[in-house]
Amino acid sequence: MLHRLTIHELTSLLARREVSAREAMQSCLDQVARVDGDIRAFISHNPADALAQADAVDKLISSGADFARQPLLGVPIALKDVLAVKDHPLNCCSKILGNFTSPYDAAVVEKLKAAGAVIFGRLNMDEFAMGSSTENSAFQTTRNPWDITRIPGGSSGGSAAAVAADECIASLGSDTGGSIRQPAALCGCVGMKPTYGRVSRYGLVAFASSLDQIGPFTKDVRDAASLLEVISGHDRRDATSIPQPVPAYTKALTGDIKGLRLGLPKEYMVGGLDPQVKAAVDAAVKHLQSLGASVQEISLPHTDYDVAVYYIIATAEASANLARFDGVRYCARVDGADPLAMYGSTRGAGFGAEVKRRIILGTYVLSSGYYDAYYLRAQKVRTLIRQDFLKAFEQVDAIVTPTTPTPAFKAGEKSGDPLQMYLSDIFTIGCNLAGIPGLSLPCGFSNASQLSTQNSQPRLPIGLQFLGKPFGEETLLRLAHAYEQSTPWHKERAL
Ligand code: GLN
Repeated sequence: MLHRLTIHELTSLLARREVSAREAMQSCLDQVARVDGDIRAFISHNPADALAQADAVDKLISSGADFARQPLLGVPIALKDVLAVKDHPLNCCSKILGNFTSPYDAAVVEKLKAAGAVIFGRLNMDEFAMGSSTENSAFQTTRNPWDITRIPGGSSGGSAAAVAADECIASLGSDTGGSIRQPAALCGCVGMKPTYGRVSRYGLVAFASSLDQIGPFTKDVRDAASLLEVISGHDRRDATSIPQPVPAYTKALTGDIKGLRLGLPKEYMVGGLDPQVKAAVDAAVKHLQSLGASVQEISLPHTDYDVAVYYIIATAEASANLARFDGVRYCARVDGADPLAMYGSTRGAGFGAEVKRRIILGTYVLSSGYYDAYYLRAQKVRTLIRQDFLKAFEQVDAIVTPTTPTPAFKAGEKSGDPLQMYLSDIFTIGCNLAGIPGLSLPCGFSNASQLSTQNSQPRLPIGLQFLGKPFGEETLLRLAHAYEQSTPWHKERAL
């Protein structure tokens, strides 16, 4: 049952030498073998390589390892298929990358390795991180461990489902408009998008460079703090990385949130919000008050523009970033009569429908004649959205919202309607546009009181989102930890 443990539970057993890293890794591999036929979180994994890494860690531990210096020693961690691991496949769940393997490690992977983690497996995602359900993966749709007729969210759906199904101890994903927090909410785990610039994106395949951040998926808040501490920090290889010291995030988990001021944006508690999500979030807010936080209504007046602004800026940046997949530099080439025809046939065959839609949209909003009307205007409104948040943070220490408007939806329910799919990120997008940190954690379940009869709806996790000031990660972790430790939700497992 070692696969069910958190990072801190596992490392304390490893440090006392009560279990070995090999046993922990084997336990996760067994769980993958048992459940991944249904869950389909993993695109690929290499058990022999994973066990060899675990054996190397066991040698280190037996010769007296320092867990304070290497806080992830022997912890099996799986990665979204968008992060480069030297000599491992990297596909972004697209056909266009063919059988590409990474020649180098991403900055976060270097840091995980230095901290002693055992890195195994490539996790499913929407192609190039474009989507909210993993249904845009060129390979497979991941299923929600709480109900396999439903999706796990996306784009990092594999990362969320693998943690929720205890197939790994923790995972990493990327978040451009909610791709960590939305699947974390729908799968009942903790997911965090750090401040823009907090974590180096060197070795992350770019989707929308002014929005992308890497962050952790974990089983509890303490693990999120320790994983964030490992992966954060300045890196000259990512020009947007900010030279700000990395706090000891686990020290922020004091349990004391007395006097913290929370803001409830009135624009977020409106139409389209599922009544059970609303009830769970209302109850969570009351609970936070009972722990000593004060709550006031705030306004983020430009919220209505979030989705439109995001889909102009993200697609514009994607159209530029994805130009490199041209059949020359990386990918599986499809020949044509001349170079131009070759680009066309390679990209035509290699990209899926959603990626093509975004490239076309992004090219359009950047084209002369439309640039001013769409892209430039979206950039201006983005500034207003950021200013709304910064103004709100003059009055409050953190903002609390639902993470998603509804619990996990059925596979196929929204895949035919891009706009419906885009709207599932309505509460997570503002955070990326503003560059601020956000965290989602479980705050209850839908249909919690229903007896399980044949017609009953499944019990599905609901997520609570905290948004913070730039580099306010410690406040978010402190709040989330105090909430989590005084509520039962994180103790429930999907399988
Ligand atoms: N679902 C959003 C999109 O499709 C966000 C994706 C992400 O954060 N990578 O763009």
